[in-house]
Amino acid sequence: MSRHRGQFKPDHDQPYELSRSRVENFIRCPACFYMQQVEGIQFPSIPGFNINEATDILLKRDFDELRGTGKSHQFLEEIGYGHLSPFAHEHFELWTQSLHFGAENRMNMVHEPTNLKISGGLDDVWVNAKTGLLHIVDYKSTSQKSPDKAITLDDRWKAAYKRQMDLYVWVMRQKGFDVSSEGYFLYCDGDRFSEYHFLGKDSAAMRFKMQLIPYEVNTAWIEPTLMKIKECLHIKDRPNHSPECEYGQFLLAAA
Ligand code: SF4
Repeated sequence: MSRHRGQFKPDHDQPYELSRSRVENFIRCPACFYMQQVEGIQFPSIPGFNINEATDILLKRDFDELRGTGKSHQFLEEIGYGHLSPFAHEHFELWTQSLHFGAENRMNMVHEPTNLKISGGLDDVWVNAKTGLLHIVDYKSTSQKSPDKAITLDDRWKAAYKRQMDLYVWVMRQKGFDVSSEGYFLYCDGDRFSEYHFLGKDSAAMRFKMQLIPYEVNTAWIEPTLMKIKECLHIKDRPNHSPECEYGQFLLAAA
C-alpha cells in the first residue's frame, strides 16, 4: 500500500504522515490546517532563512568531528557542560533530514490510537556521560538588538520552539531511546555591538555570541493534540476562522 501523505484520504489505511510543522499549524489555526491537509489547498511558499541554515550546517560540522568519540566540545567544557558529547548512531544522519521524513529510519513514529505518523528533522543529539541519557539539541540563530542581554525562551512566539523540542523528545522516546527531559537550545547571536571589523580584504566575518539554554520539556499536550487532529481530519466542514486571528476577522469583514 502506498504511503499516506499530502491531502488526507479518509479511506487510506496507512498511517497519515504529518511533520511537526503541520502539527504546529494545527495548534496555531485548525482552519488553516484543515484547508491544507483536508481540502488540499496549497499555501503560498515562504523563502528559506539561508543564514540560519548556514549556522546550522557549520555547527553540525563542528560537532560531527567529535561525534562518537566521547569527547565534548571546548565551548561546552568552558561553560560547565563537558559531560555532554555528540551522540553517534547509524541512523543519525537520517534523523537530521526533515525532507522525506516519513521514510524508513527517519525521526518518526506511528501513534497507534490516531494512526498518525509524526516526524521531523533533528539538529543534534548529545549524550550525557553522567547519566547515559540523550539530550535533544536545537540550533537557533538570531541577532539581538540590545547589547549584553541574555537570550531567553520567554517570548510568546518561542512557545513553538518549545513545542518542537517537546515533540522531538516524545518521538525519540517512542522510538525506544532514553531521552532526558532536559533539551538544549544552542543559540548563535550575531554580534552587532562589539568592536571588530566585519569586512576583511576579500571576505567578511561576523562574530556570534553563543548561548546554551536548557529547557525542561512538557510532553503532556502531545497526545490530546493528536486526538484533536484526528477529529479535525474527519469533520465535514472547515473550522471557522479563529476570533483571535486578525486576518480571519479581516477576511470575515471583507466577505
Ligand atoms: S485567517 Fe487566521 S483564522 Fe483564518 S484560517 Fe488563516 S490563520 Fe486561521
